Amino acid sequence: VRRVRDEAFVLRTQSLGEADRLVVLLARQEGQVRAVARSARRSRKRFGGALEPLSRIRASWTERPGRELARLEEADLLASVAEVQADPETLYRLAHVAELAEAFSRQGEGDERAFRLLASVVGAVGEGSDPALAARYYELWTLRLSGLLGEARSCAGCGAGLAGLEVRVDPAGGGPWCPGCAGEAAPGAHRIPAGQWGLLLQALREPVSRLPEGVLGREDRALQGFLHRSLTGYTERPLRAHRALEKLDRAARSVRREDRER
Ligand SMILES: [Zn+2]
Repeated sequence: VRRVRDEAFVLRTQSLGEADRLVVLLARQEGQVRAVARSARRSRKRFGGALEPLSRIRASWTERPGRELARLEEADLLASVAEVQADPETLYRLAHVAELAEAFSRQGEGDERAFRLLASVVGAVGEGSDPALAARYYELWTLRLSGLLGEARSCAGCGAGLAGLEVRVDPAGGGPWCPGCAGEAAPGAHRIPAGQWGLLLQALREPVSRLPEGVLGREDRALQGFLHRSLTGYTERPLRAHRALEKLDRAARSVRREDRER
């Protein structure tokens, strides 16, 4: 039996049998951890509010050879974002972030940068940052840390700086390219309007809490489409929380339309 203690975020939980919960964690040293929280459904006393989505906890668990799931022994709450998740948009944005954190992490492979990224985004939302902006920042950096944005600053073909150009990107990978190189390298690539890539590069230089106005804004559809297609190209399945968010967006638009027509 191996006993482990680590700092972690709760990515999600689900019911397991009559009394238990399956808990998926992103741990600082250990990467993704899948554990059973015994009796967590029957008695809230044992783990308290520590197993809420995106709670930051000090966890200890045991691993047995040959067992797929670890056993969660203790979970002490360090920081909670349960309160801000009373707002449905914040709830879904953070669910989207947690879903990505699970899809892009591996068991037994700790990733300090991925852990710090999640901590900074969850912390910023907890302190009142726009959850939509924070989620896009998380998407962008997840692609960056996974190597899916290439060098980002310069064309993968000729090395030219990309900040002021109409950039070509391929959600299937490779690139980014300047217009001159894209013709040959990626004839089916998507176009990111001139200037937008510069904003993306700016977002990669700043912490989420200090993003300048207009960087990763809501209206930037080309860039958002690219981020989303790149992420689902990697996960190879639709993102559940993203679908829920699109429904919320459509509902919000129809309410605004009704308001205008009234
Ligand atoms: Zn080029």
